[in-house]
Amino acid sequence: MTEAGAECNIKVLCRFRPLNQYEILRGDKFLPVFQGDDTVIVGGKPFVFDQVFPTNTTQDQIYNSCAKQIVKDVLDGYNGTIFAYGQTSSGKTHTMEGKLHDPDNMGIIPRITDDIFNYIFAMDENLEFHIKATITYAFQLFFKLLSKTNLSVHEDKNKVPYVKGCTERFVSSPEEMMDVIDEGKSNRHVAVTNMNEHSSRSHSIFLINIKQEHVETEQKLSGKLYLVDLAGSEKVSKTGAEGSVLDEAKNINKSLSALGNVISALAEGTKTHVPYRDSKMTRILQDSLGGNCRTTMFICCSPSSYNEAETKSTLMFGQRAK
Ligand code: ADP
Ligand code: MG
Repeated sequence: MTEAGAECNIKVLCRFRPLNQYEILRGDKFLPVFQGDDTVIVGGKPFVFDQVFPTNTTQDQIYNSCAKQIVKDVLDGYNGTIFAYGQTSSGKTHTMEGKLHDPDNMGIIPRITDDIFNYIFAMDENLEFHIKATITYAFQLFFKLLSKTNLSVHEDKNKVPYVKGCTERFVSSPEEMMDVIDEGKSNRHVAVTNMNEHSSRSHSIFLINIKQEHVETEQKLSGKLYLVDLAGSEKVSKTGAEGSVLDEAKNINKSLSALGNVISALAEGTKTHVPYRDSKMTRILQDSLGGNCRTTMFICCSPSSYNEAETKSTLMFGQRAK
């Protein structure tokens, strides 16, 4: 079980996507003013992060800025989590997945899968690796409808929560790892259809679990990495949702604020109570957040004047973690 501690390592990075064609045609203004490499000014107010990435940042630069080091750490036995937070269409999936099979435009996840195997092939031949990839799409309604699906949150004997019934497999190549994602996506599609809801808001949680054992010394080491594409953070009122979709939206917002509370408690340090148990998602991520872990949060933003209010509230969310 992890505790918030001196080694707590949380990085908050902010990325702005470019204006899209539609926004340009509508005449939206470009809001952010970038200052140095860690500050962005929106509506006259400066927001400071560990790093701010302007709109022309490449996928490769994003990867090298944080994810590359996390891969090394996980192979050294640390746990880690990379999140993307932001309103719908702010670039979360672009950052986490990007174009999965396009070398220039692929995001963090496919680069990580490639790198893991590159590192492993270069390591001591006496090390034996077991790599397990798991993908879960956590709809809030899903959690309510768990009895109808075969997915639920359990606790193992060490009280570590885990999700049962998601796509999970031992993998031995980057291709097999990407197959897990592709399969997860199609399962998600089936789930959405079965739930008979038109909402597609869900958290996507990709877990890479790496166990290694030295064949002679039998020395063991394990690390895991959660890669989380969070559900859109927009306010419920803007979505015009009603009924069960509205309930779902409220639940999503609740789980996102629970996450915000956990991250800000971790950022505050040792003495603070960390409210992991306030949401299923934070329970699942518990042993990969804070403590002796590597946590990176990408705060994804739209540059459009049309989204100013949402963008400010996204930036404030990110500031709480600092
Ligand atoms: P989200 O997952 O937050 O809803 P997406 O990642 O799907 O948003 O991004 C919305 C659209 O904007 C997509 O078409 C995506 O390709 C594009 N986009 C997002 N970020 C960037 C970026 N940094 N550069 C270029 N296009 C981007
Ligand atoms: Mg998305």
